[in-house]
Amino acid sequence: MYNQIIQTNKIVIHHICTQNSIRFDVLRFDEIDAVVSGNKFFKLKLYLENVLAQNATTIATFGGAYSNHIVATAFVCKKLGLKSIGIIRGEEPKKLSHTLVDAMNYGMHLIFTERSYYRNKKAIQEKYQSNNWFWINEGGYGIAGANGAAEMYNWIDDSYTHILLAAGTGTMMAGFIKAAKKHQQIIGVNVMKGNENLINEVEFLLTDEEKKKNYILLNDYHFGGYAKPSKELFNFMNKVWDTYKLPTDFVYNSKTIFACFDLMKKNYFSPQSKILAIQCGGLQGNLSLNKNILHF
Ligand SMILES: *Cc1c(COP(=O)(O)O)cnc(C)c1O
Repeated sequence: MYNQIIQTNKIVIHHICTQNSIRFDVLRFDEIDAVVSGNKFFKLKLYLENVLAQNATTIATFGGAYSNHIVATAFVCKKLGLKSIGIIRGEEPKKLSHTLVDAMNYGMHLIFTERSYYRNKKAIQEKYQSNNWFWINEGGYGIAGANGAAEMYNWIDDSYTHILLAAGTGTMMAGFIKAAKKHQQIIGVNVMKGNENLINEVEFLLTDEEKKKNYILLNDYHFGGYAKPSKELFNFMNKVWDTYKLPTDFVYNSKTIFACFDLMKKNYFSPQSKILAIQCGGLQGNLSLNKNILHF
């Protein structure tokens, strides 16, 4: 299914710097496709295989008005000849977001739900049960989502000692923990504020054996919270672009890269460590910012 959807030849290692014999690289999943950049296709992949194997015709999933997951689901469904339904958080707005317009253009049928009702996903699924839709959780959260994300590990070689990534639902992080080798530590960067429960959601997707692996979730690099604009973060993103020609988005990847530099500064990594940060797309999120804020 890879070649049908993404360009795997665009997945490359970008060397950032070597300091005190610590090497810092970034693995670029951002250019594999304009719509399903980053981890979104990988998280969907095993669900899609199940759907095709069952000869189901329709996928239904959940998300907000700016959800990368919603537009990615609409896009891959169109490519695979499947119908898609998006249960959208909140009442229908007068003007649809770019994300939702794109999703509709890929053929997704949108169902707007009032916020309090949206929270009760079980009731929503029961309401449409007779339609025989195949349901995927918000953000692709689930074991199949994590196992799909674990396939991203095929591009990571054993020489890396630490792998850093952003965590939203924690699905990708769970997948990376599953795939990690004994000598490797997975470092998740929680992009939300006050969501310390996230580690439990990650661990819910792990076996008892996998829970013994080496991983940590950092809760102090949220820069004010999910998708909150931050001048400090924008300045950092511009510096990273000007110095290393690495583009980042302000919701996820910039926080990962910041955490990397900060941990280096604090001597978290021992000499000879080899660090890999995952750039997992989502750059179109920057389109919601004023034009003159970023240098790229
Ligand atoms: C969705 C997304 C994430 C978060 O992935 P989860 O599996 O939900 O933790 C991280 N980075 C980018 C760019 C994303 O689009």
